[in-house]
Amino acid sequence: MYKIKIEGDFSSAHNLRGYKGKCEELHGHNWKVEVIVASNKLDKIGMVMDFKFLKQKLHSLLEKLDHKYLNKLAYFKKVNPTSENIAKYLYDRLKTEAANLYSVTVWESDKASATYYVE
Ligand SMILES: [Zn+2]
Repeated sequence: MYKIKIEGDFSSAHNLRGYKGKCEELHGHNWKVEVIVASNKLDKIGMVMDFKFLKQKLHSLLEKLDHKYLNKLAYFKKVNPTSENIAKYLYDRLKTEAANLYSVTVWESDKASATYYVE
């Protein structure tokens, strides 16, 4: 298998509904996002897919989250804006652009991340 990975980031605020603790209050993160695309074969020029294409797609998705209060976005009014749910949100949208999408990992700090992928 081959895996390629790109990274992106955004800054936003959220609060976790139903959480008993500090994260129930409004606060922000500088989120880091890792996107992995996997394939067991390469295209005719030797790539899994074009990094540039993937970066553009990720960037345009992250633009919609950057400097936003996530709880106020339509999707996250229903779905709690946890790192797990942000990873799935990004995965579902990138999957339509990259059929071989493998996983999306969202880091909310240097030491804590959540990954979504489909087995
Ligand atoms: Zn948080």
